[in-house]
Amino acid sequence: MAEYDRSHLPEEKRLLIMTSTYGDGDPPDNAMDFHGWLSSEDAPKLDSLQYSVLALGDTNYPDFCKCGIEFDERLSSLGASRIAERFDCDVDFDEPFQQWLDSIKQTFATSEQETKGGPVKTESSEKNVYNKKNPFSAKVLKNVNLNGPDSAKETRHVEISLNDSGLEYSPGDALAVVPENDPGRVNELIAALGFEPGAEVLVDGDESIPLQDALLTAHDISKLSLKGLSNRSDDECLSDLVSDRAAFIEYASGRELIDLLEDFNPSFDSPSDFLSILPKLAPRLYSISSSPRAHRNEVHITVGVVRYETCDRARKGVCSSYLAERPENESLRIFFHSTNSFRLPENGDAPIIMVGPGTGIAPFRAFIEERKARGERGENWLFFGDQTAQSDFLYQDELEDYFREGALNRLDTAFSRDQSEKIYVQDRMLENGAELFEWLERGAYFYVCGDASRMAKDVDAALHEIVEAHGKMDTDSACAYVKSLKSSKRYLRDVY
Ligand SMILES: Cc1cc2nc3c(=O)[nH]c(=O)nc-3n(C[C@H](O)[C@H](O)[C@H](O)COP(=O)(O)OP(=O)(O)OC[C@H]3O[C@@H](n4cnc5c(N)ncnc54)[C@H](O)[C@@H]3O)c2cc1C
Repeated sequence: MAEYDRSHLPEEKRLLIMTSTYGDGDPPDNAMDFHGWLSSEDAPKLDSLQYSVLALGDTNYPDFCKCGIEFDERLSSLGASRIAERFDCDVDFDEPFQQWLDSIKQTFATSEQETKGGPVKTESSEKNVYNKKNPFSAKVLKNVNLNGPDSAKETRHVEISLNDSGLEYSPGDALAVVPENDPGRVNELIAALGFEPGAEVLVDGDESIPLQDALLTAHDISKLSLKGLSNRSDDECLSDLVSDRAAFIEYASGRELIDLLEDFNPSFDSPSDFLSILPKLAPRLYSISSSPRAHRNEVHITVGVVRYETCDRARKGVCSSYLAERPENESLRIFFHSTNSFRLPENGDAPIIMVGPGTGIAPFRAFIEERKARGERGENWLFFGDQTAQSDFLYQDELEDYFREGALNRLDTAFSRDQSEKIYVQDRMLENGAELFEWLERGAYFYVCGDASRMAKDVDAALHEIVEAHGKMDTDSACAYVKSLKSSKRYLRDVY
């Protein structure tokens, strides 16, 4: 969307928008500009445009599908006509996406037939060998904890074999991992429900497998969603919760399905009836931390393991804990997710600045390896941060070696708990603001990876501050400068 030349919009006949919503109901980075312009008074009348919107979201967030809803309503108010109703997809988006696509193909096929008088081919001929429905079974080659014994964190470096897959990737891409649920958690759930683990159930409409296997591999058994919960229990509190979305979101925070079963004892007619309320188990994405030139037939990822305690119960993230507990030589189901918006500069002489605290280091390890393998001369500057230097300096030896040999020209670290006041990567940026601005003026690309909720916002604010102070600009000009970095694809983010 960021690449679209909006001056063409008034002449367009058909427009399909597929968009997620990000952060606190904001448009994702690549939709930001177009969304801002379309919402503004500058937007043109669009009387001859036909359109439809597919909104992607997660019902666990209050601003569910907000960006898609805004596009849909704004296009309509500018005079465009909907050719198919908007679909708002939850994380389990396969089915609604297909329905949306079918309704659009139907409309387009009909109108093409009317104008051309012949049948229209609507099936895509594109084939991707390995994907969500058909992942590649890959062997784990190495699985180590990068944190020291005293760390509060666990970050796994996982090396995976691509032998015999024919799969290829580029630095900047992500790896999708299809997880399995924790067997202990599955057993706990089956016991709470009182069903037989071996009871046969249907998955994907046709395949019959034991309930235990369906819960291990096919369904999300932790996320709490409103779907199918009404009239399940005599408990009035559950009925109240189900009818009040905001109250449900509050209850669901820090709780999982097992808590709901214990709190309200809802009833299910059969194992299949129970499965009907569960979303599908979704693959998780991990920014790839290896360069294919440096590690032939391998892909590496850097995984922050999610473990926490809420409501007196130890919890663990489905996929990160599955990965953490995956021994070497066992297999994993994977496929690639290409991220064309997060790439190294084509010009190997261009300098790059990378801000990647915590697991945000992942794509930058790949970038440094790749630039070294390509023999590129562009300078590389990395900002890394975490809690303590002693236990949390991920890839310390590699990075220091790169620095010594000149593959990394600058390495600035921020360890928040190594001194009384907290120091973060954005503080290191500000301390080095003059030089950072000078790099930008020399054409440097600015990359950010890692936490979207706080870090990416703080780094963005620091970048604006640096441009304002060292470019001697007022706030508006600094905003315009950063915006132009974005539109010229020199400010790229991979944040989650
Ligand atoms: C493009 C992209 C790239 C990514 N790259 C990486 C990467 O390189 N490395 C990486 O580690 N991750 C990365 N992620 C995140 C990754 O995909 C997963 O979201 C992450 O591993 C958690 O998944 P999980 O299945 O372990 O946890 P889930 O089972 O999905 O649980 C996570 C949920 O647990 C809850 N939660 C977590 N902590 C707490 C807490 N303290 N208190 C209460 N609730 C809590 C939150 O609701 C959170 O949403 C990336 C994501 C995207 C979209």
